[in-house]
Amino acid sequence: MKHIRVRFAPSPTGNLHIGGARTAFFNWLYARQKGGSFVLRIDDTDLERSTSESLENILSSLRWLGLDWDEGPQAGGEFGPYCQSQRLDIYRHQAERLLREKKAYRCFCTPEELEIRREAARKKGLPLKYDGRCRNLSPDQQQDMMKNGKPYAIRLLNDARGSITVHDVIRGDVTFGADVFDDFVLVKSNGMPTYNFACAIDDHLMRISHVIRAEEHLSNTPKQILISEALGFSIPTFAHVPMILAPDRSKLSKRHGATSVDEFREMGYLPEAIINYLALLGWSPEGTDEIMSRETLLKEFDLARVSRN
Ligand code: GLU
Repeated sequence: MKHIRVRFAPSPTGNLHIGGARTAFFNWLYARQKGGSFVLRIDDTDLERSTSESLENILSSLRWLGLDWDEGPQAGGEFGPYCQSQRLDIYRHQAERLLREKKAYRCFCTPEELEIRREAARKKGLPLKYDGRCRNLSPDQQQDMMKNGKPYAIRLLNDARGSITVHDVIRGDVTFGADVFDDFVLVKSNGMPTYNFACAIDDHLMRISHVIRAEEHLSNTPKQILISEALGFSIPTFAHVPMILAPDRSKLSKRHGATSVDEFREMGYLPEAIINYLALLGWSPEGTDEIMSRETLLKEFDLARVSRN
């Protein structure tokens, strides 16, 4: 059987949220249960919003909850570095490969031009998709613009037809029409990879077997599949866990009370209590026990029994 490798990939743009803690915990449980590896990857390509204080908070909250990672910041590992901001050469290299293989192209359209075209499409009630006009720039035209220092993004040359199906352990098969996706951006004009591009590359290079993450990323998954296919990478198994919602069914936020692990810690909750409670949010054991030790949870947890909502 394939070695199980899962990852938790927080963006260090705030304290560890209770929803993130549950995602981390489900990944940890799955890894420990299967004798696999739990990787901690830091998605810090948003340089403006990422802070070292947030990273510190995430690491210390995970430690407090007893969710130890086998590879990642401080732990090291053979597939590092584990902070995306230190992997920019890797993304650049893969983007250049796609350009050479004509699976991606340079787009010199400015944000203003794109906005004008989007506005026109909006008025006509058309889908707000990129029209692919830079697909056909000649090598000379491209060279000229690059020589003149014109910034460019790199887009996927997306010829997908029909549908894209995500095989999800929790949700079953989820199918998206391929026509929803345009030639979306892989590398922004500032040289930074988009979330989907970096994620697909890292999941592959870090040999991730199962991507267990929040449901809000389900709609990104077809894009990651298209990217992986273009790069010739295999597709991991996906499991999208339901979001933790507030009683009014909106996304849990500050106005509902405590949201970060830190706040619960300060209020005096014990890590065992938080872990027990998180386990039962979206998952239930076969029996009626509600107070379960970490050992029992390890024995009983079943990813496929996580509820869809
Ligand atoms: N950085 C993303 C987040 O925090 C990771 C999503 C993923 O697991 O792919 O939501």
